[in-house]
Amino acid sequence: MFSPPINRLIGELSKLPGIGQRTAQRLAFHLLRVPDTEALGLADAIKEVKEKVGLCEVCFNLADAPRCRICDDERRDRSIICVVEEPADVIPIERTHEYPGLYHVLGGALSPIDGIDPEDLKLAELVKRVEQGGVSEVVIATNPTTTGEATAFYIAEALRELDCEVAVTRLASGLPVGADLEYADEVTLGRALTGRRAL
Ligand SMILES: [Zn+2]
Repeated sequence: MFSPPINRLIGELSKLPGIGQRTAQRLAFHLLRVPDTEALGLADAIKEVKEKVGLCEVCFNLADAPRCRICDDERRDRSIICVVEEPADVIPIERTHEYPGLYHVLGGALSPIDGIDPEDLKLAELVKRVEQGGVSEVVIATNPTTTGEATAFYIAEALRELDCEVAVTRLASGLPVGADLEYADEVTLGRALTGRRAL
């Protein structure tokens, strides 16, 4: 319907989450209309994050250096590790100011139906971190969804098999069932964190 470059842009935009064909078209025409500097600013920002932002070598959170800012912070309590599914889940937990420890970002949740097996997540890396010692508690903060729960139990089992004195806890209720951590408000999440229970 449009020229190939416009079709390509619409195609790329429509791959973004929550963007349908119509919205992609609207965005494409918006980008065609705005000054070059504005449109290319967006292209540049995308290029820059893809080039400069990688994963922390310790916790797999987003980082623009070998280690993320949290792992690099000497004031953080290294004896607690909070396990989350995605880098976006770190942000709401940080906002509660209730959590002093470090994180471990799995990169998703176990879901055999979708072909997501233990090897696809940073699970072995978590076990290795705990095995190295100095960790007294692992707080599992995967989403309260079917896949998040399955992942929590998998981790609890894997850590129980280790010869380490490590407490495994799960965020307490208060979190809406079936919802994403990313969308939880600070009060709810803070309460869930304070009231975490053994798993
Ligand atoms: Zn890190």
